[in-house]
Amino acid sequence: MGNSIRTIIFFLIATLTSATAYGQGLSEIDVVKASSIFQLHIQHIFIGSSLILALMCLAWARALRSYSMAILALFFAIKSLGVLVAGGVSLLVLFTDNTYLLKIENILFTNVANIILLGFTIKFFELKAQGKTSYQLLLCLAMAMMMTIPLSAFIEATSNWYLISFLLTICLVALLYVTIKVPKSKGRLTDIFSMILLVQLCFNICAYVLFYGGYSAQILNIVDIVAYWFMAVMVAYLMGRRFYFHIQDEKLAQQQVLKSLETSDLAQQKLTALQQESQEQLESRVQERTLELNIALQELEEANQELQEKNTLDELSGLYNRRYYDQKILAEFRRSRRNLTPLSIVMVDIDHFKNVNDTYGHLAGDKCIVEVSRMIKSLLRRSTDVGCRYGGEEFCLILPETDEKGALALAEEICENMRQKQIISNDKCIKLTVSCGVTTYQQEKDVTPEIIFESVDKALYKAKQTGRDRVQVGLLSEI
Ligand code: GH3
Ligand code: MG
Ligand code: MG
Repeated sequence: MGNSIRTIIFFLIATLTSATAYGQGLSEIDVVKASSIFQLHIQHIFIGSSLILALMCLAWARALRSYSMAILALFFAIKSLGVLVAGGVSLLVLFTDNTYLLKIENILFTNVANIILLGFTIKFFELKAQGKTSYQLLLCLAMAMMMTIPLSAFIEATSNWYLISFLLTICLVALLYVTIKVPKSKGRLTDIFSMILLVQLCFNICAYVLFYGGYSAQILNIVDIVAYWFMAVMVAYLMGRRFYFHIQDEKLAQQQVLKSLETSDLAQQKLTALQQESQEQLESRVQERTLELNIALQELEEANQELQEKNTLDELSGLYNRRYYDQKILAEFRRSRRNLTPLSIVMVDIDHFKNVNDTYGHLAGDKCIVEVSRMIKSLLRRSTDVGCRYGGEEFCLILPETDEKGALALAEEICENMRQKQIISNDKCIKLTVSCGVTTYQQEKDVTPEIIFESVDKALYKAKQTGRDRVQVGLLSEI
């Protein structure tokens, strides 16, 4: 691609150089066209420089991938051809017989160059999307210029020159107007562009004055070339600025992308930290709650146990209460029946306790109950034995897997211990005796816990009746 462009450009250089020389050879065809050596040199320099400029624009167009630069390269090529034609080089070098072409060649190059300049402006400032009216105005102007090209064949040389200059002036004024209208965001290069147009306009006015003053075509051509060069230099500067802005914009965009990446990275980090924090908080709160719950459960369990104990224990004696006796006797009765093991009940009642209360007072009586309970508890050696305070000074002992003999022995032991015991209250020694009833259940038929209780109660009653301080065995068969 690059090679083919280079080949075309070298071909153009060769053609234009030979065209200039040939144009000089045909100078007698048109007396207005220049033939001095000075102008010839200027034209040679001009051709070379124009091509360099066009090449530069093409290189830029490629580097920036910009259509407007490619259009500009074409503009320089056409404009330079136009200036050459105005300076004496004729297209007749290529089309020798065509006199019609000779008449229109001046306006052809100038107008085509102007149309390209209009196209460049449209593309450069993106007028199609940005400024609808400006775009339409330039489009109309370009069409008008196209139409005047064939017309110029029928107009004589001086009027033709006026027409060309007039069209160029209109074109420049229209472009100036458009650059004012361009939106600010798109138009940061409009100042330079306006300057280019203004300089061109000045040169145009200068050409009018010179033409009116009757100066020769060579002078006008030199003014043309100088105007062209001013334009070329300023357009090169314009493109340089554009390239600079392009790079600036890219840098800025990169910086912004980097910054936004950093910001999003930071935000991500913050989010992760927050998530971690909230996760940790959640975990610690769950742990806290679990601990609190465990403590509450433990407290509840303790409270339950306390309640249970309160429900089942007798406060004064520390033995189980009557409610517990009722539950336990039922359970032990069933177990005894199931396991075919004996179950004995011993009922203990303090003798003449009423007298104790009456003699020593209720507090002393209470103390006696506590001491008797303690003694009974100490004599219950098996872990399965249960001692209950059944009533005021009555105690019921449940002895699982204990036969009559064992129960009798325990009851005797209680009586004996009581005989030996002295209870001291208010420096007074209280001596007590107890009477016991004993009943043993050994899988007798039609027996219930109530019947066992009745039997032991009867036995106790009998022990009381038969002198107290003794043990009486009750038989279930007698109930
Ligand atoms: P016995 O059993 O030998 O026939 O005569 P007793 O005097 O013990 O007869 P009873 O069973 O009728 O009397 C029991 C007395 O025990 C009645 C009450 O004053 C007393 N008592 C009952 N509970 C308590 C108690 O918790 N504390 C005290 N201090 N006395 C109680
Ligand atoms: Mg009693
Ligand atoms: Mg009693």
